[in-house]
Amino acid sequence: MLIEDKEFGEVIVRKNALSRSIKFSVSTSGRLQMSVPNHTPNFLLKKYLNLNRKNIKAKLKLADPSTQKTRDYQKKVLMKKAKAYLPYRLEYYAKLYDYKYAKCKLTHAGTRWGSCSSNKTISLNIGLMKIPEKLRDYVILHELAHLNHMDHSKAFWAEVGSHDKNYKNHDKKLKMFSPGL
Ligand SMILES: [Zn+2]
Repeated sequence: MLIEDKEFGEVIVRKNALSRSIKFSVSTSGRLQMSVPNHTPNFLLKKYLNLNRKNIKAKLKLADPSTQKTRDYQKKVLMKKAKAYLPYRLEYYAKLYDYKYAKCKLTHAGTRWGSCSSNKTISLNIGLMKIPEKLRDYVILHELAHLNHMDHSKAFWAEVGSHDKNYKNHDKKLKMFSPGL
């Protein structure tokens, strides 16, 4: 759910069965995010927010409420681009190098460009649409190689290297970019 705050704009509230205390963090759109135990009554949310206001301002880098909306829009545009491109690019390389994955998921999670789960789902960050094609392809090839090696062993890097000779350079360059908006 969302609550409106004069200073922070829209605040995302997540009620979580597992959380025991209140935690504040920054969402990918730069909004304040509040994670609270499941049973927390709504009237307490604003109270907690006010109690922690000073701390939040000192510790978290929130986007200005007006740029939050701009980011929402940018994210929507990026997601649209990503949908029309990333699953097909992944499929292309999987066919080319004979990999079998179960599913392609598009994410916009924090700092990871991609991931490969043990059930063979490959997740790709929509932020990939903002970086040069060579680096984007490197991330895709990196995640595909994880289908055979769920680690960063020598064998894993050898496999990445067999598809992308410049992988070391690409991996280094990738660190200059961030998937967030
Ligand atoms: Zn990896």
